[in-house]
Formats: sequence, structure tokens, C-alpha cells
Amino acid sequence: MKRRQIHSIILYILELLKPGTAFSGTIKSSIGLGILLREGIGDTIRVSLSDDPKAEVPVCKEILKDCNLFKASPRLVACPTCGRIQYDMIPIAKEIEEFLQGLDKDITGAIMGCAVNGPGEAREADIGIARRKWRSTSFQKRRNCKKN
Ligand code: SF4
Repeated sequence: MKRRQIHSIILYILELLKPGTAFSGTIKSSIGLGILLREGIGDTIRVSLSDDPKAEVPVCKEILKDCNLFKASPRLVACPTCGRIQYDMIPIAKEIEEFLQGLDKDITGAIMGCAVNGPGEAREADIGIARRKWRSTSFQKRRNCKKN
């Protein structure tokens, strides 16, 4: 890579690492730090948000998790929702995410919105739920563990 290209990439990353609101700052920091971390550059990260300083820690953890640099933290796979969704999944996914943030465990949870594609994803998680309007199927480590 030419020196000029490296220079412009560094300037781009530095621009991304400027503080921002919780929304824009999280996105910019994730891109900027993600590029550096994926290249193996750096051993300490700092995210600056125009928000409660406590909000910066979970953002740092998410960035490290998604760069496979932090294992002792849970992950949540939540379906992006589509026309097949069978129930009001989003508030439940938020509640589960909040609960998981308090744990220091390397586990993956999944919450899926339907019984069509949901069970496939849910089965891959340590604990997963795929639900229809009135029935749900739970999985634990690839095994159906409950239908109700
Ligand atoms: S799991 Fe079901 S509701 Fe969710 S995105 Fe996939 S098909 Fe749509």
C-alpha cells in the first residue's frame, strides 16, 4: 500500500474516532476501532459518547466481542423481523439483551420471530427460542427442550 493511501486511511479512522451521540458515536467508533482491531493494531480501546459514561463500556465490549477479542460475554442473535413474524418480539429481545449484559459468560442466546426459519437459528445457540403466535419452541445446545 502506498504511503499516501495509508495516510488517508489513518485520517479517515481518526475522523471516525471523534466523539458522537450514543447512536452516531457507536457506529463511528465501531467502524474505526473495528478496522484497527481486525488488523491487530492496538491493545486498549476507548469510546467517547455524548452520553452517560456508563454507556461507553457496553459499546466497547460489543466491539471487542464482534472482533472475537472478548469471549467472557454473552451474545444475542435476534432475527431482523420480516412479514413472517408471529408476535411482538422486539421488546422481548431488548429485555433479554439487557439481562444478558449483566452476565460474564461466553454463551449465545437466540430469539427468533417465527417457526419457519427461526428454529434453525435458535438451534445453533446455547439457548434459543423460536415462537409462533400461541406456541414456542425452546432449544438448549441444539436439542429441543420445550414446546408450549
Ligand atoms: S426468523 Fe422468521 S420472522 Fe425472523 S426474519 Fe427469519 S423468517 Fe422472518
